[in-house]
Amino acid sequence: MPLSVNTSRKRRIRSAVTLLSGLLPVLLGFAILYLQAERTLQHSSEQTAEAAIRQFELMLDNNAQAARELLPLAGQNCNDVQLALREQVTRRPFVRSTSLVWDNTIYCSSLFGDYQEKISAGDYTQGGLLLMKGNLVTPDTALLVYRLSEGKQAALSTLDGYHLSNVLRLIGRNTLLVLQVGPHSLSADTTFHEGALPAFPVAPSSRTSSRYAFNVAAGFPAGETWRYMSSEYPPLFSLLIFFGVISGFIGHFLQKRSSSPSHELMRALEAAEFVPYFQPVVHGDSKKWSGTEVLMRWNHPKEGLVRPDLFIPFAEHSGLIVPMTRSLMRQTAALLGPLSTSFDGPFHIGINITASHCKDLELVEDCREFLSAFAPGSIHLVLELTERELIVPTAISHQLFEQLHELGVMIAIDDFGTGHSSLGYLRQFNVDYLKVDQSFVAMIGADALSRHILDTIIELCAKLDLGIVAEGVETQEQSDYLTAHGVNFLQGYLFGRPMRGAEFITALSHH
Ligand code: C2E
Ligand code: CA
Ligand code: CA
Repeated sequence: MPLSVNTSRKRRIRSAVTLLSGLLPVLLGFAILYLQAERTLQHSSEQTAEAAIRQFELMLDNNAQAARELLPLAGQNCNDVQLALREQVTRRPFVRSTSLVWDNTIYCSSLFGDYQEKISAGDYTQGGLLLMKGNLVTPDTALLVYRLSEGKQAALSTLDGYHLSNVLRLIGRNTLLVLQVGPHSLSADTTFHEGALPAFPVAPSSRTSSRYAFNVAAGFPAGETWRYMSSEYPPLFSLLIFFGVISGFIGHFLQKRSSSPSHELMRALEAAEFVPYFQPVVHGDSKKWSGTEVLMRWNHPKEGLVRPDLFIPFAEHSGLIVPMTRSLMRQTAALLGPLSTSFDGPFHIGINITASHCKDLELVEDCREFLSAFAPGSIHLVLELTERELIVPTAISHQLFEQLHELGVMIAIDDFGTGHSSLGYLRQFNVDYLKVDQSFVAMIGADALSRHILDTIIELCAKLDLGIVAEGVETQEQSDYLTAHGVNFLQGYLFGRPMRGAEFITALSHH
């Protein structure tokens, strides 16, 4: 509806809202997928660390078993026990070598037999495990040494770092894993590290063995979340974009709908923004206020008071004119009804009605309700039907007009002279008044031909015994002319402009 001029700004806002309603679900969905990917990676990192712990524990169980069997032999002559040491190496998987210790000195090993090397129990984490970079035989292959001790006795059994790195590599195919024993650690690429390693950048987790003194750190390299999303979620991304487009369309459609004329009128109707204005109709002779025409105004919250010709066509088109007119009639009845006992002589109340209001008999009920608000006989309700949009004569319309007349409701043809009502039409619908269009009144004082047309209309009314109302009387000359020619009622700015209810009631008491 062209009520305001600032349309380009509105269009910009509308485009922005459409864009936002399209982008919002995409961004939101993207954020949810990102969180979901992070959760999945975190879960996977924890699971992998746990699997590695279990695997290392199974491997160390062999070393522990070997050490348990060898411990009672510690202190015995190396030559006597060397075979037992080698037997453990042969029989137990993952056991690479075994040695016996007496008073913190290795004195016998499966590899070298008699052999002397000082050790410190403090090097072993919780006295039980030591991760070494290598030893004399394989200086570049890490070793995990298991130690079991009792008093001066101790038995050592070693696990090859190669097996450990293998486990780290195989279990954590996509996950990075590190075995940590005290201050030392070993990664999947067989690298031995001194000191604590920094946590992994994505989904870092750490699990500690409940049975041996080691723990496993797991995680992913930087950028893994994006890599994971781009490999796992492409179908979901397509779905997100699809939803984004749908949501953008819905946003666009809802905006269009909410700014569509009928939606806006419906909103205004519910918000009671359509209000009646009253313009006095005066008596031709006495110029006494003998009635009023009710004119609709839209009290728009942003645009202010809107003229009816800007919105009535939309209201007619959308079919909302009927409930709007009904609302206007109710407001008028509520305003003027209480005054009706003080009216001297029937007061004319003109209500503008469109053809669409005459499609069924509802109008009869609307009028009955309207009349019931007034003291009996205190008013003449006049329905104004514009000549430009005449009612098609049908069985229903005849019934309607009959029932309206039975109720005492009068019919006026509005804007008379601008349409094509025939004499037959005027008789068929039992018309009571003609409202001469203001364009003819404006001709008074102009050329003789124009005045002649006006005179003919006035004569026609007299012949057909119809009441006549002249609209748009603005000058004294027009008023005098019409009075001299016997026009019953006059309406125009000369006597009063359309005014709000309270103002009209005050003015009415002075007339
Ligand atoms: P209308 O029924 O011919 O109403 C008379 C119009 O002439 C009103 O315009 C009124 O303000 C204006 N008018 C009155 N005296 C003078 C005057 O001396 N000089 C000039 N230049 N104008 C004068 P308004 O209120 O803007 O209404 C315009 C039209 O909108 C009405 O013409 C009527 O067709 C329609 N309308 C107004 N209210 C309603 C309604 O409740 N229902 C329907 N269906 N139509 C309505
Ligand atoms: Ca009218
Ligand atoms: Ca008119």
